[in-house]
Amino acid sequence: MADLYVGGKWREAVAGGRRDIHCPADGALVRTVSEATRADTEAAIAAARSAFDEGPWPRTPERERGALLLRTAEVLERGAKEFARAESLDTGKRLVESEYDIADVVACFRYFGGIAGTSAGRVVDTGREDAVSRVVYEPVGVCGLITPWNYPLLQAAWKVGPALVAGNTLVLKPSELTPSTSILLMRALEDAGLPAGAANLVLGAGAEAGAPLAEHPGVDVVSFTGGLETGKQVMAAAAATVKKVALELGGKNPNVVFADADFEAAVDFALTAVFLHSGQVCSAGARLIVEDPLHDAFVDELVRRARTIRLGGPFDPAAETGPLISAAHRSKVEEYVAAGLAEGAVLRCGGRRPDDPALAGGFYYPPTVLDACRPDMRVVREESFGPVLTVERFSGEDEAVRIANDTEYGLAGAVWTQDAGKAQRVARRLRHGTVWINDYHPYVPQAEWGGFGHSGVGRELGPTGLDEYREPKHIWQNIQPRAQNWFRG
Ligand code: NAD
Repeated sequence: MADLYVGGKWREAVAGGRRDIHCPADGALVRTVSEATRADTEAAIAAARSAFDEGPWPRTPERERGALLLRTAEVLERGAKEFARAESLDTGKRLVESEYDIADVVACFRYFGGIAGTSAGRVVDTGREDAVSRVVYEPVGVCGLITPWNYPLLQAAWKVGPALVAGNTLVLKPSELTPSTSILLMRALEDAGLPAGAANLVLGAGAEAGAPLAEHPGVDVVSFTGGLETGKQVMAAAAATVKKVALELGGKNPNVVFADADFEAAVDFALTAVFLHSGQVCSAGARLIVEDPLHDAFVDELVRRARTIRLGGPFDPAAETGPLISAAHRSKVEEYVAAGLAEGAVLRCGGRRPDDPALAGGFYYPPTVLDACRPDMRVVREESFGPVLTVERFSGEDEAVRIANDTEYGLAGAVWTQDAGKAQRVARRLRHGTVWINDYHPYVPQAEWGGFGHSGVGRELGPTGLDEYREPKHIWQNIQPRAQNWFRG
């Protein structure tokens, strides 16, 4: 099937490569897709370049570009069932989670469609009567958008929405493991009337299909969501052509529970914080940091409930969480658990593959709790990106903040306490891009998302998420030009 979208046409990979996509829940073949090589990505960049330099999209009024995004949101909403099913088959996540994701995708397109034309620039006071000055926003140009497998369509929407509304053209390269919903997204944009070449899609492995988006001089900005090491490679490759870079990388996110927290709610959210989508969430609350007097009762109850979490495939109504994305990823998670145990962590639950024969065809790994952890352990410092919770303990506000900030990452974190003053003080001191108080995971497209430290560069969503795709330009006009005679001769 022709599933690369280049210059408004559906085509197959130049070299004829194909890749099988299997559902991680049972190994079933989901579909076979084109496997792009550099030649395909270069063709897509050329199409986006010419659509930017000569096509109508950058010159279409921003309100009209916003209207197209709103129409796309309608198409997505109408097709939500098909999108959710495709997302679940590729990722193995529960159907209900995919349905939430698609609703969030629709909300993202509506947000960026809705703010179109609301911030056209500003007039600047020149201090002179003979000169006027204003700052306007221009699109950056051709955007290379590279996305991961855990929230395939949502991560694409966070980039495609603002990139298009700002008047850019783009090439999207989703994870090679989860291409299906990106294909559907291109069809939705086509249905909504996007001009040819404004959005292009290549499918395939990072080193072949993705790398040119960071390296090629025809790309003006590369926006990448994925792992830290790949992010560093993208940033280094982008340096050669001095392109703008936006990075949304991983997290090792602290969930800080004070002794005065609402016990039941804090335990409940500590479970969803880390075990939602089997921990394959960049903002997963994988570090539980509990105040001393509460520690034993809290961890006992958490472990009791973690043991009851039911694993299963996307369409199993009894399942509460699904498989990991691949065999390689499950091995990585197992290595982190082994490293934690070798460094002195105490295994409280999980820690080995389930023996239920019904789960044997998928990459399942159970909710795992490692107690008695310290900030210097590998399993605490590095992102396992699996259902592995490490537990540390603290005494008092200062120590809570010190431990929670003792990480190279800085994506998200939470504070649980019934003392509103303490909650606000701690929230301000945490060096993380999102902080929840007495909650975990909610976000809205109106608010910025992104990380401090190694969690990334730049922000997605909110007004700043749009700014990533705009260049401010200062236009100065002398309305009564007269010779200055600075040079007298
Ligand atoms: P990954 O880094 O392996 O891959 C991400 C994307 O980069 C894929 O499309 C891949 O094909 C591509 N890629 C790989 N090598 C490349 C190269 N040399 N040049 C260009 N592109 C290349 O990440 P993943 O395993 O797909 O996703 C999991 C990671 O994503 C986790 O670390 C997670 O924390 C992170 N993530 C972060 C956020 C956030 O908002 N901060 C959101 C979701 C996921």
